[in-house]
Amino acid sequence: MAEVLVLAEHDGGEVKKVTLELLTAAKRLGAPSVVWTGPGADAGAARLGEYGAEKVYVADSPDFSGYVVAPAAELLASLVADKAPAAVLVAGTTEGKEIAGRLAIKTGSGVLTDAVNVTAGDDGAPVAEQPNFGGAITVHSVVRAGTPIIAVRPNAISPEAAAGAAAVEAVSFAASDAAKAAAVTERVVAEKGERPDLTEAQLVVSGGRGTGSEEGFKIIEKLADALGAAVGASRAVTDAGWYPHQFQVGQTGKTVSPQLYMAVGISGAIQHRAGMQTSKTIVAINKDPEAPIFEIADFGIVGDLFTVVPQLLDEIAKHKGV
Ligand SMILES: Cc1cc2nc3c(=O)[nH]c(=O)nc-3n(C[C@H](O)[C@H](O)[C@H](O)COP(=O)(O)OP(=O)(O)OC[C@H]3O[C@@H](n4cnc5c(N)ncnc54)[C@H](O)[C@@H]3O)c2cc1C
Repeated sequence: MAEVLVLAEHDGGEVKKVTLELLTAAKRLGAPSVVWTGPGADAGAARLGEYGAEKVYVADSPDFSGYVVAPAAELLASLVADKAPAAVLVAGTTEGKEIAGRLAIKTGSGVLTDAVNVTAGDDGAPVAEQPNFGGAITVHSVVRAGTPIIAVRPNAISPEAAAGAAAVEAVSFAASDAAKAAAVTERVVAEKGERPDLTEAQLVVSGGRGTGSEEGFKIIEKLADALGAAVGASRAVTDAGWYPHQFQVGQTGKTVSPQLYMAVGISGAIQHRAGMQTSKTIVAINKDPEAPIFEIADFGIVGDLFTVVPQLLDEIAKHKGV
């Protein structure tokens, strides 16, 4: 069975959930082999084995933290040449998509990004499902040149446990001078707080212009905290400076695909929908019954958010027995 390379996203020894999602997709295509950059593989290997990883190629080089994404693309290119995998799967994050693009150039391959599912076609080759035009059209695409390289949206595939040997194999790697052209000079750790990461979260509560002000937006944080959710925002909010830009959801912001997405005081412009409409369940709260967000909502509440959300908070508190 051909190998399928999966580029691990991890935090040192902690495997990010998206890696398990990629393993689940890889298993449908062949024998999953994880590519681990930097330290921590020993701590992470067991978890990878629980989700079907047969091998873990470990390149523990400081080049991966010292330079931007080029070394990872270079490592993958050498493994593609060496192992002739059936496909390479990476997370559809900003970095993952850049690595995918660079790898495609290096290997003369086709690349598909923003996949929300990957399955094996009749000939066994990977078929990627991609929402296009802000989700208005869904296409199924295959790669016709080289090794299929697919960037898969985090949270789009449910990870399924499957036993794998997760045999660790060290790979020697030193980045070329070209890959060292852009060096990391400083790292600033973003204050994360207690909330889950927006792109990985199972629950997201997003607020829009309907919140009225920076002060008004605080009700979104309250609701998110009551649910243990991440906070998102529309561009109207981030442009107004009511909430930081890194929390913007949409075409020019983050793409999210949680189990539950609550859009509060958000009209549902196509550019916002592009970043959230693959969410499993969408709940909209809006005082305008004609707001376009209701077209894609599974549950809608027509009302003033400053009346509805406090009632919701009361109900959540009762439910928790607080
Ligand atoms: C190139 C380009 C890229 C873009 N990228 C993005 C992007 O990434 N993300 C994004 O979000 N937008 C993006 N936009 C902007 C997008 O077109 C919309 O302008 C934006 O999404 C609107 O944000 P909003 O829904 O919060 O505000 P509005 O459209 O003003 O909607 C506010 C909503 O709140 C409701 N409301 C008002 N008061 C209350 C209340 N008290 N209770 C309940 N409901 C209330 C209103 O009925 C209305 O539906 C982009 C635009 C362009 C041109």
